[in-house]
Amino acid sequence: MNCTILTVGTELLMGQIVNTNAAFLSKELNELGINVLYHLTVGDNPDRLEKIFKDALEFSDLIITTGGLGPTQDDLTKETISNALDRELILHKPTYNKIKDFFISINREMTINNKKQAYIPHDSIVLDNEKGTAPGFIIEADEKIIISLPGPPKEMKSLFLNLVKPYLLSKSEFKIKSKIIKFFDIGESSLETALEDIITNQTNPTLATYAKDGELSLRITAKGETDEEIDGFINPIMNEVKKRLGKKIYSYNNETLEEVVAKMLIDNNITISLAESCTGGLLASKLTAISGISKALDRAIVTYSNTAKIQELNVDEIILKEHGAVSEETAAAMAQGLKTITKSDICLSITGIAGPTGGTLEKPVGLVYIGIATDKKTFIKKLSLKGDRNKIRNYTAISALNLIRK
Ligand code: ATP
Ligand code: MG
Repeated sequence: MNCTILTVGTELLMGQIVNTNAAFLSKELNELGINVLYHLTVGDNPDRLEKIFKDALEFSDLIITTGGLGPTQDDLTKETISNALDRELILHKPTYNKIKDFFISINREMTINNKKQAYIPHDSIVLDNEKGTAPGFIIEADEKIIISLPGPPKEMKSLFLNLVKPYLLSKSEFKIKSKIIKFFDIGESSLETALEDIITNQTNPTLATYAKDGELSLRITAKGETDEEIDGFINPIMNEVKKRLGKKIYSYNNETLEEVVAKMLIDNNITISLAESCTGGLLASKLTAISGISKALDRAIVTYSNTAKIQELNVDEIILKEHGAVSEETAAAMAQGLKTITKSDICLSITGIAGPTGGTLEKPVGLVYIGIATDKKTFIKKLSLKGDRNKIRNYTAISALNLIRK
């Protein structure tokens, strides 16, 4: 099935908003095995929209539009499509009642424009929009499928995932399944190189890498008639990836690093405390995002100044004077100090220079020390990171998670 994504909105052409809808839909459709051949964008202009829509009908089996379904004068997608396909707009009673109830609930008058949203092209499948008032719709016409979704990304995504995706899957003769493997401590290009032969030779399953915020994923997607058949395609590839790169893998199930670490700590009854300097609580924030972590996390202290390191963690003033706050010695003293206070199994410290200011030749921006004190030993990991302040802080926090995992 060949697809065109047609995004509508003058703001997109003006560069006022980024076209995240097209990116989201492309990614999802590719996973469904649907080829996205074109991204088209047009302003809120009915003539140009009708022309480009009719063109797209020529070269696509499926057209998905986003935007222009709202109540205002410039929202004309529905009217234009119904014109182009010669399908009358008719009042959809359930939608009308929903909009009416919404206005009653906020104590406001419903305008004619709002009523306009309840009109849907004749003989279409209405997509009830739980997150907004404008419904989407699906039209099946002469072997073509046209799907119109509202512009706001939250509404568009929710309609796509809950209603459009199952609809498209029902149209497909195949089932599609993906497995996502997560990596740490390897770059995207090294990952691709390590798997180059598999990536280039495979058509079912297909493999794709994806990097975001320091997390690197490999998606293995296969299609087949039954779950067993699909597993038969995916499993040998999974095993081969594991054989080649197992040490760098922290999840075979698309979990985040914090989820994996939290589960490891909770399942093994290991307790942990944190003392963060340059990450300012970022690690604690990641860990506390996981429900159930109270079983493992005792406390997290942000000791930013030298005084705080001395007062809260009993770091020896002489260590700070001789080696500086960002040093192996201070990281060790912070972790050990915390260990005497909390008795947690793992006491972890972070101290570093997040930049962009504060670096020197000897101690450049991106120099970070992570200390881990346990009953048996104290271990220090030195990182030399590149990037802006956010990137350094984020990468430090996930490196610390990776150390705990080990
Ligand atoms: P509304 O009822 O909010 O008017 P609509 O379906 O008419 O919804 P638009 O008016 O075209 O949609 O867009 C509403 C908002 O949704 C835009 O201001 C923008 O913030 C966001 N939006 C629209 N299209 C896109 C897109 N392609 N990518 C990302 N955001 C978008
Ligand atoms: Mg609008």
